[in-house]
Amino acid sequence: MFDKILIANRGEIALRILRACKDLGIATVAVHSTADADAMHVKLADESVCIGPPKAAESYMNIPQIVAACEITNADAVHPGYGFLSENARFAEILEEHKISFIGPSSQHIALMGDKIEAKKTAKSLGLPVVPGSDGALTSDEEAKQIAQEIGYPVLVKAAFGGGGRGMKVAQSAADLASALSTARAESKAGFGDATLYMEKYLKAPRHIEVQIFGDGKGNAVHLGERDCSLQRRHQKIWEEAPSPALNDKQRARIGATVAHAMQELKYRSAGTVEFLYEDGKFYFIEMNTRLQVEHPVTEMITGIDLVCEQIRIASGAPLSFTQEDVRFEGHAIECRINAEHPTSFRPSPGLITQYHAPGGLGVRIDSAAYAGCHIPPDYDSLIGKLIVHARTRDECLMRLKRALDECVINGVDTTIPLFSKLIGEPDIINGSYDIHWLENYLEKSESA
Ligand code: ADP
Repeated sequence: MFDKILIANRGEIALRILRACKDLGIATVAVHSTADADAMHVKLADESVCIGPPKAAESYMNIPQIVAACEITNADAVHPGYGFLSENARFAEILEEHKISFIGPSSQHIALMGDKIEAKKTAKSLGLPVVPGSDGALTSDEEAKQIAQEIGYPVLVKAAFGGGGRGMKVAQSAADLASALSTARAESKAGFGDATLYMEKYLKAPRHIEVQIFGDGKGNAVHLGERDCSLQRRHQKIWEEAPSPALNDKQRARIGATVAHAMQELKYRSAGTVEFLYEDGKFYFIEMNTRLQVEHPVTEMITGIDLVCEQIRIASGAPLSFTQEDVRFEGHAIECRINAEHPTSFRPSPGLITQYHAPGGLGVRIDSAAYAGCHIPPDYDSLIGKLIVHARTRDECLMRLKRALDECVINGVDTTIPLFSKLIGEPDIINGSYDIHWLENYLEKSESA
């Protein structure tokens, strides 16, 4: 087992990883930018190193600084969290070159899945169902037009190296296609330094259902069920739940087994998420995330398995601590992403948190690094905490969520809490009947009302 882990991240996820390290009796090193000198993860870590100015490119994404911090503190492994360097294959490679373990998959698998075109080809070859679309990169507007005609409008043009819902544009008809292509190309070049695009059929009312998997890198892999992340704004998740209200046990077991089998073939190591769209009883692979997800706690709540501890164990060379038969799903869990944003305009709201009170009680979990008197810097994403509730049934879970939201006090900055308080009273949410467009339509309707 490792003696000391450096956590190459900030905010709630840095704290989440730190907690796992403490549970395993492993010493921790926090890294931070000058904007985060007073951050909770810095206060709670055994050691800390300042790695640069507020700008993420010069601190949390600064590979030489992070490697230097490992050398100075004698850390023998790095957990990258999510975002920042978590899906940077070169980072994983550099660490290995320095004899520092990367707590995650192999750099080859990160690179493979980071290229969404290659990821889709791989998924197909492993027997996973994919969204109909171009076989590879679009080479010209002419070719795009031809493929769109073949698969039928509406179509979605997507950035091969995209993420976070950016670099994606819908063309409703042939008349829209040229502008969708040029906008997606420009966004993709600016955001990801690469303008390669591919095309998919645009599914009209799917749900986003993803499968959590875990592999040991030697051909053993198990699934930990699915998460339903259909409540999204601008293709970004804000509410996740498990199990999905749309699946029955048979469907769950079938997709889980298909994905676990694919991951065994791939000899995948560590935690990973295989994302699908689900429409009319069919699954369509869209991408694989080779890291811990923001929404991993909902899976932890229904399985009782600590995903971060398991990642650390696997990275240190231990075998998987559970088999497929050991995984039991109990009850229902929902996560709400509390962002420092205006609840309807979603304008970021950085600043000073003047009052902070976290809800508690049975089945309530808060993953947050916020506290009264802390500053939310404007330099990073606006997630300030996650409220996760667990109960025996979905109905009980919704009641508990309502109670927890009512108890939660975060003053000084705007948050998305009022939005969630409204959502839990909506019949469609109560019934679990929503697709990936539901939230945007709801927000539009609320605005015009
Ligand atoms: P990113 O890596 O940017 O998150 P994804 O491929 O995971 O991109 O897609 C993000 C979201 O975009 C999905 O959850 C879904 O809401 C929407 N989306 C992606 N592909 C399609 C598609 N073919 N049809 C309809 N919606 C899609």
